[in-house]
Amino acid sequence: DFNLSESDPEVQSIIDKEKERQFKSLELIASENFTSRAVMEAVGSCLTNKYSEGLPGKRYYGGNEYIDELETLCQQRALEAFHLDGKIWGVNVQPLSGSPANFEVYTAILNPHDRIMGLDLPHGGHLSHGFMTPKRRVSGTSIYFESMPYRLDESTGLVNYEMLEKTAILFRPKLIIAGASAYPRDFDYPRMRKIADAVGAFLMADMAHISGLVAASVVANPFEYCDIVTTTTHKSLRGPRGGMIFFKKDPILGVDLESAINNAVFPGLQGGPHNHTIGGLAVCLKHAQSPEFKNYQNKVVSNCKALAERLFELGYNLVSGGSDNHLVLVDLRPLGIDGARVEKILDMASITLNKNSVPGDKSALVPGGIRIGTPAMTTRGFTEKEFVSVADFIHEGVQITLEAKQASPGSKLQDFMKFVTSKDFPLAHRISD
Ligand code: PLP
Repeated sequence: DFNLSESDPEVQSIIDKEKERQFKSLELIASENFTSRAVMEAVGSCLTNKYSEGLPGKRYYGGNEYIDELETLCQQRALEAFHLDGKIWGVNVQPLSGSPANFEVYTAILNPHDRIMGLDLPHGGHLSHGFMTPKRRVSGTSIYFESMPYRLDESTGLVNYEMLEKTAILFRPKLIIAGASAYPRDFDYPRMRKIADAVGAFLMADMAHISGLVAASVVANPFEYCDIVTTTTHKSLRGPRGGMIFFKKDPILGVDLESAINNAVFPGLQGGPHNHTIGGLAVCLKHAQSPEFKNYQNKVVSNCKALAERLFELGYNLVSGGSDNHLVLVDLRPLGIDGARVEKILDMASITLNKNSVPGDKSALVPGGIRIGTPAMTTRGFTEKEFVSVADFIHEGVQITLEAKQASPGSKLQDFMKFVTSKDFPLAHRISD
């Protein structure tokens, strides 16, 4: 029984290289974080060996007394971490990740071809909220359900709630989704609740990006207004890769959410839960109740404000003019460059962020902006001072990108730009995270 480096040096060496990359780079991808050693120990434990289809006390396999104890503890901690009363809210901690969690909710409360409204992906929404192009139903959500996205007001960069309301009255969705992958502001949950009530729709929040901020009460709380709340567990919450679904226990619109959602997770769409992940999640949810965690989330937000202010001073155009949360979205189009080129150049300097479409982009293939997040580097101890330097580094990368555009013929820089502008260069629109 060998350890990894003895039994598979090839995989060990790839892991070592990735570890080095994570260690050396400035990790600014808004959906990423560095989880704790304790979480990784649980994820790398014997919990991975066990099958436990079903729920605590109602399993399809024997030998689950400790797994039952673990999942029950994880559920309790999930409710505590988000300050929820267990008489009003329940939770399923088995979803394998964020996209499956969302699809499980749709499966639970909708019939095929029922209508949904989520924020459009080019305006900051997530694929799993129903993304489709005029030519193709890209996400499974848009294949099995009829999706009519709502959008931002391009002049303010804020959700256009008026338009959402008008469209909802005509489209009559059965589900409205509040949540995003690239939206620097709080959602107006009370307003969305009113719209959902006016058309008889469920209101779900997908708080994947902001769940750590919600647990620490540093952004608006979706639980006060929504029927269902989904989340990933590996972004600002800083846990293992996974997902959770919170649901109201009382029937909503005649649906018993608890049984519908639990059944959609298993046997609907999943088999055996990933118990090692549930173990890691339980550890993360204990951390999420500590004063250190609250302090960390406060810093995520104050660091983001410092980053936004410095970028603003440097003359950048920020979508919505700033940020209330953990990310900023920079519109690079006034400079005559796109996000893909800047992402590539910064990558060469070990600064990792992602190109992102910004409202008003003519083509989804050439995203006009970049998304920058503060959770990961805040975990590594960055303060406002370091984030001011991060803004300066990004500025330098943008200047290099601009200079490269004007490089003299035959220069190395020009060769590089030829590559950057060639077909081999991945200009593909961000559709994966
Ligand atoms: N929901 C939102 C808002 C997200 O940003 C993401 C991923 O970035 C997901 C869901 C999907 O999560 P996963 O990648 O774990 O499927």
